[in-house]
Amino acid sequence: MKVFWSNKIYWGLQTIKYEIFELLYPSNIHCTICSQPIKDDVKYGICEKCIVHMRFAESGLQEVEDIENKYFEQLYAATYYYELEKNIIYDLKYNQKPYLAKIIAPMIIEKLGEKDYDGIIAIPLSREKHKKREYNQSYEIAKYISYELKIPLIKNVLLRVKETKPQNNLNPLERIINLSDAFRVENKRRIEEKKLLLIDDIYTTGSTVDISSKELVMNGAKLVDIAVFSRAVYEGESD
Ligand SMILES: [Zn+2]
Repeated sequence: MKVFWSNKIYWGLQTIKYEIFELLYPSNIHCTICSQPIKDDVKYGICEKCIVHMRFAESGLQEVEDIENKYFEQLYAATYYYELEKNIIYDLKYNQKPYLAKIIAPMIIEKLGEKDYDGIIAIPLSREKHKKREYNQSYEIAKYISYELKIPLIKNVLLRVKETKPQNNLNPLERIINLSDAFRVENKRRIEEKKLLLIDDIYTTGSTVDISSKELVMNGAKLVDIAVFSRAVYEGESD
């Protein structure tokens, strides 16, 4: 009973918070991509001219063939990583536009379909990077997914403890070495026996999400699925 009410209060407060945010930063007045005025019923807050350039994945559920003995179960991606998706991620990460997460989350949710996870976790940034950027773009996306699906967001469990080199110019093996020991789990009882959804902005070779999934599974998670905004369809992109 106590848990029921604390849940009700928690999601009630979340609703108030997101409704205030929507009043301050309405998503249905200007196109998120080109800033032109839009009708208030357009999907994802993107105008008709822009949305045709989005490369939505035909199926959210993606095939993953290039990782042997992977630690996660399924990969879901909303889009493929082409021009417009690149711009969105760039703006989200480097142009101080964390609010773009609000249009990204519904795209991911649509591809995910009805799922029952026990918790949602975002791929963390290192402390230094977080300080510099002031927010974690994956966490921003995860926040909205958590709110929409009413699945708790699990914070401060998966930590990035090592600063890693940019993944762009590394081959798959170098990526794995670069990322080894980069993540650590704390407070593992919070994920034990839980079905988790791990959120990242982009999926390239999968090494980041796989190494994170490994940490979660080794620390007792029952299952880890991955959901990303965009999947790179060729080698050599930032992870
Ligand atoms: Zn537009």
